[in-house]
Amino acid sequence: MTNQPEPSRGLVLVVEDEPAIADVLKMYLTREGFGVSVARDGEAGLADAQSQRPVAVILDVGLPGIDGTEVCRRLRAENNWVPVLFCTARDDEVDRVLGLEMGGDDYITKPFSPREVVARVKAAARRAAGPQAEGEVLRVGAVELDLAARRVLLQGSAIDLTATEFDLLAHLMSKPGRVFSRDQLLSEVWGYAAAVGTRTVDVHVAQVRGKLGDLSPIRTVRGVGYAVSEPAGADDGGN
Ligand code: CA
Repeated sequence: MTNQPEPSRGLVLVVEDEPAIADVLKMYLTREGFGVSVARDGEAGLADAQSQRPVAVILDVGLPGIDGTEVCRRLRAENNWVPVLFCTARDDEVDRVLGLEMGGDDYITKPFSPREVVARVKAAARRAAGPQAEGEVLRVGAVELDLAARRVLLQGSAIDLTATEFDLLAHLMSKPGRVFSRDQLLSEVWGYAAAVGTRTVDVHVAQVRGKLGDLSPIRTVRGVGYAVSEPAGADDGGN
């Protein structure tokens, strides 16, 4: 009998300079059937993310050499959209790591529970795999979203969204006009309960809006949440 179960869920890359944290994450993830590779600094993490094609990356913000945000920024600059779960010891970094420029998918603040990290990694990997209704194309206003191809067109031009941004938009567009609360979006899109805080939702909505610009169909329903709808008085010649 081997001492490691055969990794069945794909490889998770842990970029973390504190060996104790890396070890506990590795133990929990391995137990859940993930393969785990550990990089101790930003340069190694970046190289491994490119060469090993992980299903998700757990990325410490505070790293020797290039920090976690720079690792993520460089990955995105190379059009690598692997789900990135940032670990940060500082709550005030959250907006920055999830921001447009960095392109993180999710974050967790230290000290964290390994169990929670594993739950988030599973959710991120599942989202990235994205086995949604195949062949379906959703259209709202100027936005066309192809679920099978995981592609978004804005007035016919392709828009790059992260896996999480895509799933958020797809979820909203699956029921135009319906208002989703932030808690609903967290549990239905991210796949975990609302206790972690809803700022993740707000930041990602802001990112999607940033990418869709004036043609974004997402509207804020004050005190409730978000919905998509055709632009008021739409007369843009859409079919
Ligand atoms: Ca660190």
